[in-house]
Amino acid sequence: MKIEKIFIIISLLLIPIYILNATNNIIHISVAYLEDKRVPSISNKDIKKIISSAKDELYIKFGTKNIIFDYKGKKNIKSFFKKYLKKNSKFYKNLAIYKLNLRKNHIDYEQFKPEIIKFLKQWKLWDLKDFFPPDIKSKISSYDDIVYYLFKIYEKKVNILKNLKFKGRFIIDKSKDSVNSYINWLTVMYFQNRYDIVFSNTLIVYDNIVAPYPHAVLRYAKVGGSSFESPKRKIFDGTSSMVNLFEMLTPLKYFKSKKIDYSLSREKWDDIIGRFIMAHEMGHMIYLIPDVYDHPKGCLMDSSYMNMDYYEGYKILLKYPFQCPKCKVWVDARNTHFYADSLFNKKNYKDAIFYYKKAIKQTPRKLDIDYNKYISLLYYKISLSFYKLNDINNAKKYLKKSLSLFPENKKSNYLKELINEK
Ligand SMILES: [Zn+2]
Ligand SMILES: [Zn+2]
Repeated sequence: MKIEKIFIIISLLLIPIYILNATNNIIHISVAYLEDKRVPSISNKDIKKIISSAKDELYIKFGTKNIIFDYKGKKNIKSFFKKYLKKNSKFYKNLAIYKLNLRKNHIDYEQFKPEIIKFLKQWKLWDLKDFFPPDIKSKISSYDDIVYYLFKIYEKKVNILKNLKFKGRFIIDKSKDSVNSYINWLTVMYFQNRYDIVFSNTLIVYDNIVAPYPHAVLRYAKVGGSSFESPKRKIFDGTSSMVNLFEMLTPLKYFKSKKIDYSLSREKWDDIIGRFIMAHEMGHMIYLIPDVYDHPKGCLMDSSYMNMDYYEGYKILLKYPFQCPKCKVWVDARNTHFYADSLFNKKNYKDAIFYYKKAIKQTPRKLDIDYNKYISLLYYKISLSFYKLNDINNAKKYLKKSLSLFPENKKSNYLKELINEK
């Protein structure tokens, strides 16, 4: 076994130490603001207000108490991208195949059509039609029609974004290192090791041709918020998220919806962003709750609000300051998982195993992330706990379960090597 490999394994086995503060189970979330100086921005004071509103809303809606947001201030987005946009990586190269070329006025999607149709088939044709304006809706009778009209609009929207100017300069950088490309963002967030949540005021073009989410593509073809894979961030087992502020800050008429009241004060907006946008993103990230449509009024994860304007949705949140009974199953399952991590961290492996198993039983099938991958992680943690107890038979048994759900699970594969060498 090579030295580096031993090092990797040792650091993997230490994971839970980063996860929770050993004494009081407090989770520290690292936050930063990746600022684009070319477009309107807000102050650190505003960001702090947004965070404190989000924290309060999470407490009201999910009873979240044990989370501290460590705000690290403003960071230069260009230098951050320079450091982490690893274009020679396999990760980037795999995505770049489907990356929309911002220098062309036409989207070359024909060669990806089978993949695009496969992606769109996750929705029923009837539901997809609803995303389109009435005049187009009547012309759609197949998935081929959907692709045709979707890309026609997609192309138009991207070309509009490319020509937008602020103070005489183009907002979109068309270069390959662009901070305005979503695929570049996916890469940067994959390789960065610093933040669990980032704010940004930059405009992000949705440039993944094979996954044309209708709500994103048909609206402005831009990204309003996202979660990312960040394997080096351990708090949420390798995920991070982004809150995008562009639309709330831009004075450009193109983005003004008639329904939004722009006369509201900056402070009011901070509260809206914190409660309605950031806290919702955190609901995905902390509790893995998917976007829902059938929860009671005032539920933070209710995505039928998304069709509504921000201010209306925000007012509903304030009107119903209660925990959502339907969200409770996700919250309980994740709290059990976090509790198990804290026991593991205190080297109380026996009890940790009990609570990891309980978390598996509690976890709802429908998650914001892949269910099998998530359960595979929990089985891995059980296996690791048995390994720590020197119970190799059980360690092997649960590792097998973990790998059967997600054969590429890196942590499980490392642990397998370690066990086999015993
Ligand atoms: Zn959502
Ligand atoms: Zn709910």
